[in-house]
Amino acid sequence: MKIIKRSKERAPLLDKKITCEECDCQFQLESEREAKFVADFRDGDYYEITCPQCHVRGTYQATLFQRSSVE
Ligand SMILES: [Zn+2]
Repeated sequence: MKIIKRSKERAPLLDKKITCEECDCQFQLESEREAKFVADFRDGDYYEITCPQCHVRGTYQATLFQRSSVE
């Protein structure tokens, strides 16, 4: 069988509370597009996320979001 239309799965990325390393505020993503996934096979995959308060771009290990291509 094949899937014609996928149901909306809630990405774990969107449920996660993120603490900004710069200003210590907490925020949650509203869209996966707010995080840029970066594959890094040497140090581990990570996301680049820009803080909504201080607008500093931080890097967050992908394992925090239960997604990694490095098992
Ligand atoms: Zn911040």
